[in-house]
Amino acid sequence: MWDDEVPTRKRRTRREKEMLHKAQKGRCMYCGIKLPVSQFHLDHRNPLNRSGSDSFSNLQLLCGPCNTRKGNMTDGEFRRAYKLTPARKADGPPTKRIPQSQFDAVTKKRAKRRRKQREDDWLW
Ligand SMILES: [Zn+2]
Repeated sequence: MWDDEVPTRKRRTRREKEMLHKAQKGRCMYCGIKLPVSQFHLDHRNPLNRSGSDSFSNLQLLCGPCNTRKGNMTDGEFRRAYKLTPARKADGPPTKRIPQSQFDAVTKKRAKRRRKQREDDWLW
């Protein structure tokens, strides 16, 4: 059976996605955008390759842009980097939508900081 052959990443059922969708009130966990369940990406809060678990409690639904932005970060790292409410305080996704432009601004600042750290200051 497929599930036994791939022990680190279970095949997810549509039902699980629907359960998350309901729990998150149809909103992206980070930016709060409302989307139909089919358009959400299933994300591991703590990535599997960073010793995150494949259990249901480690899963969340994110919109495409948020999922791409999160990349290989943990939930904690992402929330710290983008100044979101810490997971233990956040009671589900934001009820007011945070525009992607706000996230973009932080992404740019972070990239700039990284460039500075590498002393690649020719772009300034
Ligand atoms: Zn989002």
